[in-house]
Amino acid sequence: MTSYDFLVLGGGSAGFNAARVAVSLGLKTAVLDGARELGGLCILRGCMPSKTLLYVAEVLHLAKKGKAFGLKIPRAEADMKAIHARKKRIIADFADHRKQALEAGKFELIRAYGRFVDPHTVELPDGRQLRARFILISTGSTISVPAIPGLSAAPYWTSDEVLDLDFVPRSVVILGGGIVACELAQFLNRIGTRVTLIQRSAHLLRVHSKAAAEVIQQAFEDEGIEVLVDTQLELVTHDKRGFAVTFQHGGKSLTRRADHLLNALGREANTKELNLPAAGVKTRPNGQIAANRWQQTNVPHIYAGGDCAGPEEIVHIAIQQGELAARHAAKVPRLRPVDWTLLLNVVFTDPSLATIGQREHDLEQSKQPYLSANYPFNDHGKSILMEAHYGYVKVIAEPRQGRILGAEIVGKDAGELIHAFSGPLAMKATVFDLLRAPWYHPTLAEIITYPLEEIADKITAAARKSPRKVAR
Ligand SMILES: Cc1cc2nc3c(=O)[nH]c(=O)nc-3n(C[C@H](O)[C@H](O)[C@H](O)COP(=O)(O)OP(=O)(O)OC[C@H]3O[C@@H](n4cnc5c(N)ncnc54)[C@H](O)[C@@H]3O)c2cc1C
Repeated sequence: MTSYDFLVLGGGSAGFNAARVAVSLGLKTAVLDGARELGGLCILRGCMPSKTLLYVAEVLHLAKKGKAFGLKIPRAEADMKAIHARKKRIIADFADHRKQALEAGKFELIRAYGRFVDPHTVELPDGRQLRARFILISTGSTISVPAIPGLSAAPYWTSDEVLDLDFVPRSVVILGGGIVACELAQFLNRIGTRVTLIQRSAHLLRVHSKAAAEVIQQAFEDEGIEVLVDTQLELVTHDKRGFAVTFQHGGKSLTRRADHLLNALGREANTKELNLPAAGVKTRPNGQIAANRWQQTNVPHIYAGGDCAGPEEIVHIAIQQGELAARHAAKVPRLRPVDWTLLLNVVFTDPSLATIGQREHDLEQSKQPYLSANYPFNDHGKSILMEAHYGYVKVIAEPRQGRILGAEIVGKDAGELIHAFSGPLAMKATVFDLLRAPWYHPTLAEIITYPLEEIADKITAAARKSPRKVAR
């Protein structure tokens, strides 16, 4: 039996980065991954292929919108064979890079799936057993199939199929209104598919604010996507004419038909094959592995990180969690857990939606005092000349000193702009600090200065009325 200090189950974003750090800290490490293709979800079927296609769709959209800029572009259309080939080339390159890093020999790579035999032992399909002092579970997530009559038996698509399309589907009904559903709805619509999106919650992107979701919904509807929110899905059927989805909406029973159905109702932790009971590892009611702030499960030498542990399904969080687990196992002093007050989230639609830090509705609910101010994109020079009219920038700050608590941006390139807040938030900067920073003209980033100024003015005015210390 081979023994390791640190054994990693799953070589995706969490697992690969955990192994890299564990080796650098002197732990004898192995990564187990049985996937036919190495690379993990982000590279192969998640962030990178979706962003490749969304960017293509944005270029196409701008070309189709040429008239608004005074351009004559007689015919702009998607050549799906070429788009597909380009995506495959780009992703193969990224995956190759990751494969080389996994195979570089710094740690042992074992191309097999593993399952627990006992809390320190993992068994491979060929019967080999591996023992380890510490184990990280980073086995990712799989598509979830909620109990909607007819769904599990229907030949629905998942994001995997949409990201691998080499033709333009005539029509698609999308179930779900989360990040993946919204991003792929816009991609499909922009390449020329008739898209109906059916969301069960009261608004799109339910973890985000209603105001932000309404901007996205408006943009979608303006582009011709049919969006139905606040629905109850009742039945999915499929025959040779395609799919039919029946649902309750506004007190009526409605049906929408399409050639294809995309199940984008979410993902769940990929733990079923791990035989967790043999290790004594507990899961939460939603199936994710319960972990403490050091990513330790209830069995302290077994860690969990990435999508299988949650609570977020975001790559930079998966990486942080994996690296933290490795450092904790190596007993690195003065560790810091993941700081959830810095949570950064991006939806790569156009307009995009990005948030960082605390959200206004959470502050409202917890009755924490705050100040907030917004400024719209349609009242700023750079966005007007770019025909980027949707959305706003919102800044949220603590009301006495003006320390930034969070920001929400919906609009052109929100996913890039939000990073203007990352450093300042981590460094606990105030609105006054940010206003001392230079802001180049004319840029979209300048929009951020308007809500900063509004909050700064409010704090200064309040300080004048009842003098107290204001950080400058
Ligand atoms: C369409 C889509 C778009 C996305 N876009 C973004 C985005 O823009 N930004 C963002 O931050 N996030 C995005 N995500 C989410 C992001 O991809 C995931 O959060 C991230 O990839 C999870 O990494 P992970 O390491 O937890 O899991 P994975 O990368 O899935 O790795 C898990 C690995 O474990 C292996 N494995 C499974 N079972 C076993 C076993 N028993 N033994 C050994 N190995 C095993 C698998 O083969 C796999 O390689 C997107 C997701 C999707 C689906």
